[in-house]
This record gives sequence, structure tokens and C-alpha cells, in this order.
Amino acid sequence: MSRTWFSTLKDLLGEDYVEPGTPLCAGCGAIIALRLFHKALGGRVVWVNAAGCITLLIVYPFTPLKSSWMYTAMASAPAGAQGIRDALDILIEKERIPVEEDLKVVVVTGDGAASDIGLQSTSGAIHRGLDFYYLCYDNEAFGNTGFQYSAATPYGSRTATSPPTPLIPEGYRGRKKDLFEIWRAHKPPYVATVSPSHPMDMIRKIEKAEKYKGPKLFISISPCPPGWIIETMDTVKLAKLAVETGIWPLKEAVYGEVHHTYIPRRLKPVEEYLKIQGRFKHLFYPVRRDDVIAKIQREIEEYWRIVYDKELGKEDSGLT
Ligand code: SF4
Repeated sequence: MSRTWFSTLKDLLGEDYVEPGTPLCAGCGAIIALRLFHKALGGRVVWVNAAGCITLLIVYPFTPLKSSWMYTAMASAPAGAQGIRDALDILIEKERIPVEEDLKVVVVTGDGAASDIGLQSTSGAIHRGLDFYYLCYDNEAFGNTGFQYSAATPYGSRTATSPPTPLIPEGYRGRKKDLFEIWRAHKPPYVATVSPSHPMDMIRKIEKAEKYKGPKLFISISPCPPGWIIETMDTVKLAKLAVETGIWPLKEAVYGEVHHTYIPRRLKPVEEYLKIQGRFKHLFYPVRRDDVIAKIQREIEEYWRIVYDKELGKEDSGLT
């Protein structure tokens, strides 16, 4: 249960807090994020879970975790975290448990709870300055109920509730909610985006966040083989392509101040990311939808143009 420090990727081979053989789908990106997160935080953790895919991780009396776990309804994980944090603080104050036995309180939710159903209680917890971690595994839909669209579904994606039709051939017409910016507007000590394809970036961010008392929020892209219609072996490849095409920027904000932790020198065309996912197949077959692909590409370039100007200077722009 001791805390390990990580200098290189090799150090990640150390103690694991998630045993193999979970009931999640093969290739699930969410479990990779949770496993890395647990490694970085160490073993003294209590997870507070909003109902979602990861809820299946623990089917009583079986658990692959070496840490504690509490379920809540979808809307109320941060409220559950508040109760646990308060209880721990009271026990420590009354000297019923020593400070060394304190636990880190971590909410873990999918994007449906984070972006929508649980947003109100999350906003309240951030506003109250609750000392907790929050990990959102973003598979961009409601994964465990059959991949219906959520507020985090990107434009052009096929979901169970946004199939391409003759009237709406591009699939999902809405826009992905910008959860990073919603959280950042509250000015908590720490907010970051992470990816299972960049483990050291994730570990460094968690180590940095540990210095702050208060809400520490992380959003991890989480490729989902059955929903994204990808091979189980392509999870990390997809997460990496998301970063390299610029559709998933790696960044952090300390008390609202944004900094990108990885800036691609040349953005790969987003088509490379889209075309290997079945949920975007209708943009390429039977008729290629250049208009939709170009719109997605344009939005990415508009985002990065601002970042390049601000953080690199115009002459170093990765855009042609
Ligand atoms: S549906 Fe997707 S997110 Fe849910 S467990 Fe399966 S792979 Fe993971």
C-alpha cells in the first residue's frame, strides 16, 4: 500500500491496485485510465462511483480492487464524496484514526454523469472547495446502456440514438460539451485532460495535483471498443491518434490558468482518427462526406491556432 514515485515508464511496472480479470469489455479505455490513476495515487483511496460502465467493476462480493469503493446514484457521486471526506476529517479531528490512515477520496464517473446528470452536484462540490479527486472516463456516450448519445458525444458520431438517416446523414448533430471549460470556470485548484496513451503525462499531472487541497478534476479520453466499433487492440492507438490529430488536447489549468502539456508540432489529419472507427464509417462509406470531415478538421485547427499563437508564437505554428 506504499506510495511509489515514477520517473520513467518502467516504474509503472510496480505495484498494481487493480487485479486482472475485471468484468469490463476487453480493450476498455476506462479501466486503463483508472488503473494508472490508482498507481499514481497509491493504495489509500476510497472510490465513489456514479452509476455507469465502471460500476460493473465490482459485483458483490467480488472486486478486482485493493481499495475501497462506494456506489452512488448517477447524480450524486460528489455528494457521496463530501460525506466520506467529512467523516474522515471528523475521525481524524477526534483522534479516532491517526492522520496516516487518512484516505484520498476519488469520484469516478462516465461522461454522461460528468457532463449532464451529475453536473449540478459536481458544481456544488467545486464551489464548496471539497478536497477530492474527480476522474471522468469519457467514452463520449452512455456506454453500458447501449451507447446512446450523451452531452459529450462529438459531432458526426453514430450512436444508438443518433444513427445516420437519409434526413440526418451525418449522425449526431450536436456539439460535445466542453467539460474542461465548465470546470475551469469554477477556478478550482486543478483541472486536466489526460489520455491512456500518455501515461507519464497523466502521472505527472496527478503528482502535481496532489499539492493542492480542494477539487482536482481529470477528464480521460476512453476509447470504447463496442461503442466506437474498433478492435480491442486499438484502444491505445486511438487514444494516441486523438492527441496527435489535436481532437483531444492534453492540458491543465491551475486556478483557471491554462497550459498545454503536449503541443503537436504538426497536427495529423483528423481523418486518420475518424476512418478507423465504425461510429464514423458513414462519413466515408457509401458516400464520402467531405463537408462533415472538413468541418471537424476546421474546428480543431481553429482551436490550435489560438494555442499556437499563445503558447508557441505564430512562427512555430503546427498548421499549414
Ligand atoms: S461499453 Fe465501453 S466504456 Fe463501457 S465497459 Fe465496455 S468498453 Fe468500457
